[in-house]
Amino acid sequence: MKTFCGRANPTTGAIEWFEEDENYDYHQEIARSRYADMLHDKDRNMKYYQGIHAAVSRVKERGEKAIVLDIGTGTGLLSMMAASAGADFCYAVEVFKPMADAAVKIVEKNGFHDKIKVINKHSTEVTVGPAGDMQCRANILVTELFDTELIGEGALPTYEHAHRYLVEEGCEAVPHRATVYVQLVESRRMWSWNKLFPVHVEAEDGEKIIVSPSEMENCPGVPSVCDIQLNQLPSSDFTILSDVVTMFSVDFSKPVRSASTSYRVQLEPVKPGKAQIVLSWWDIDMDPSGRIKCTMAPYWVNPTSASQWRDHWMQCVYFLPKEEPVLQGQQVTLTACRDEYSLWYKLQRARREEENKADVGVESPVCRCQAHLLWNRARFGQLNDQHRTRQYLKALMEVLKTDSVCLCVSDGSLLPVLAHYLGAKQVHLEKRRLRGDLINAYKYVKANNLEDKIKIIEAHPESLTSAHLEDQKISVLVGEPFFTTSLLPWHNLYFWYARTAVSSHLSSNVTVLPQSASLHMVIVEFQDLWRIRSPCGICEGFDVQTMDDMIKNSLNFRESKEAEPHPLWEYPCKSLSDPQGILTFDFTKPVPQYCLSTEGSLNLVRKGTSHGAVLWMEYHLAADISVSTGLMKISSEKGTCDWNPHCKQAVYFFSSVMELETLSDLPSAVKYAIKFDTKTGEIAMDFKL
Ligand code: SAH
Repeated sequence: MKTFCGRANPTTGAIEWFEEDENYDYHQEIARSRYADMLHDKDRNMKYYQGIHAAVSRVKERGEKAIVLDIGTGTGLLSMMAASAGADFCYAVEVFKPMADAAVKIVEKNGFHDKIKVINKHSTEVTVGPAGDMQCRANILVTELFDTELIGEGALPTYEHAHRYLVEEGCEAVPHRATVYVQLVESRRMWSWNKLFPVHVEAEDGEKIIVSPSEMENCPGVPSVCDIQLNQLPSSDFTILSDVVTMFSVDFSKPVRSASTSYRVQLEPVKPGKAQIVLSWWDIDMDPSGRIKCTMAPYWVNPTSASQWRDHWMQCVYFLPKEEPVLQGQQVTLTACRDEYSLWYKLQRARREEENKADVGVESPVCRCQAHLLWNRARFGQLNDQHRTRQYLKALMEVLKTDSVCLCVSDGSLLPVLAHYLGAKQVHLEKRRLRGDLINAYKYVKANNLEDKIKIIEAHPESLTSAHLEDQKISVLVGEPFFTTSLLPWHNLYFWYARTAVSSHLSSNVTVLPQSASLHMVIVEFQDLWRIRSPCGICEGFDVQTMDDMIKNSLNFRESKEAEPHPLWEYPCKSLSDPQGILTFDFTKPVPQYCLSTEGSLNLVRKGTSHGAVLWMEYHLAADISVSTGLMKISSEKGTCDWNPHCKQAVYFFSSVMELETLSDLPSAVKYAIKFDTKTGEIAMDFKL
């Protein structure tokens, strides 16, 4: 069977559909899955085990047989825990075929095949009865179907169905209950991930302010959660406006309703300020007493207890539809609305109860400005990054002249407006096929009354004609470069391809800004991120090596081990080598026909485990003016890395180190071979330790 996979082509900047064999999809899914991270989550595993033990004991004490239903069994881990805890029989349901196959093998290997039946179905397809998948209903319901937002993976409809058709009334549930907590905060940093702030430009004829379109100002955004490693956000980056309060709880041992609903709490601000953001996380009680608790609370909530690092469950940032001033002690009402899969929040100043009730619609917010649909939080942050904007301003000032004819190639960029204010005679903005982005560009130009100053060209670079440019040659070609389709740092090299496509329209002494890009690399030891790609071996006494092998096999599928994008400001690491520029891309010339490759080695200057290489791009805007999308600085003797917080970096995990975590004979250098294929725009890499 064949499947179609959509992927951005870095040489055209467009999403293209490739026919792939059916294995491709699932190898990708397994290779990039969170299973390893979950198996390394000691706190989660231990607490599930304790909760399952307690539930089995309670059932046994009542003199009943313990029949377990484990929905979403994955590796079979929770079923094996139940069987070890004395359960009489377990039905382990798993919808994802490769995982169900793995579960069968793991269950067999651990000697539980007579106690655990793996059912490769979605739980809503499971049948009960003498000829069914399950002989009878279960009296213990075990699941781990939660995401950072708790309900995003469909836990509610799954529970609703299970209570109706698959488990007995009054069953035991592990976890027994989940509770969602919220805290109201003000944070310029986080708000800058959701709104565009005005940009100040010092032009020759005075200060100019670039404003964002009013649609954007008033846009309620999208109801998609922004999940984040809150433990990496310093307390100086936000002001707490309320205590932590319980927003709602779900008791999983009773029938669950998944239909849309809302929850309301009264909050008493502890400080005056601008309420902008709801921070949220949850905990799960593994038993009814609440003594076995697994919590996602961030560092300032439980300062004394050591928290477990995990990436499969983080914390949530919700942007309020608009910022709301609050006064200390003056009550406000926070409403959480949810449908089956997602949550969103509204805040109102306390008024009479009936007024509030009448006022709170539960319909989900709809983005009116397009920006929230097109840009992620990092892109908003990047556009609001004043330091970065200053670098572009400085560079533009250096290269622009009063007769400059400027063409900008970048998605949703402020550069055309900057170029105009800095005095370019004519500014063209090249727009590709992305409809939404086009609307955005128009709105921006309109909001700043620049319709007759900045011309938007609706054409792909290859189809640009002299008529589009009013028969003028381009004297300054600018790009950030940034394209919404880019996943890895080098995908923004699409700028180079676009530059090549418009070559015939460039004047002979054209200035290209940036003039070049360079690919940089450093070898790092991660504090925690290594866990997501590291084999687990034995988990709580169960042999899950089959899973490790499966992940390894998927990573090696077609030997296409690739770098993956991660926002490293959320994942502390230290550099073991000095950073090094390894490849340069010269934008003053067209993309060459041949591949660009390089080989070399990075000496290790610090002790530690080389978990992987991190790669990023630096753009050289003009003489002595560069912007880095990766390492900003190494901030201590220990090699602590500070990363650009608005970009994802490329991480290449070394598999050999992962397998030899305990290796005492550490390498002193890492050899690399990197090849940029100009035909595909992709980078292949190989490392030897
Ligand atoms: N229980 C395992 C794995 C949890 S990951 C552990 O705790 O380590 C969740 C798994 O549930 C995934 O493998 C996913 O494919 C599966 N899943 C999610 N919803 C499901 C459903 N309704 N029916 C069957 N499988 C489901």
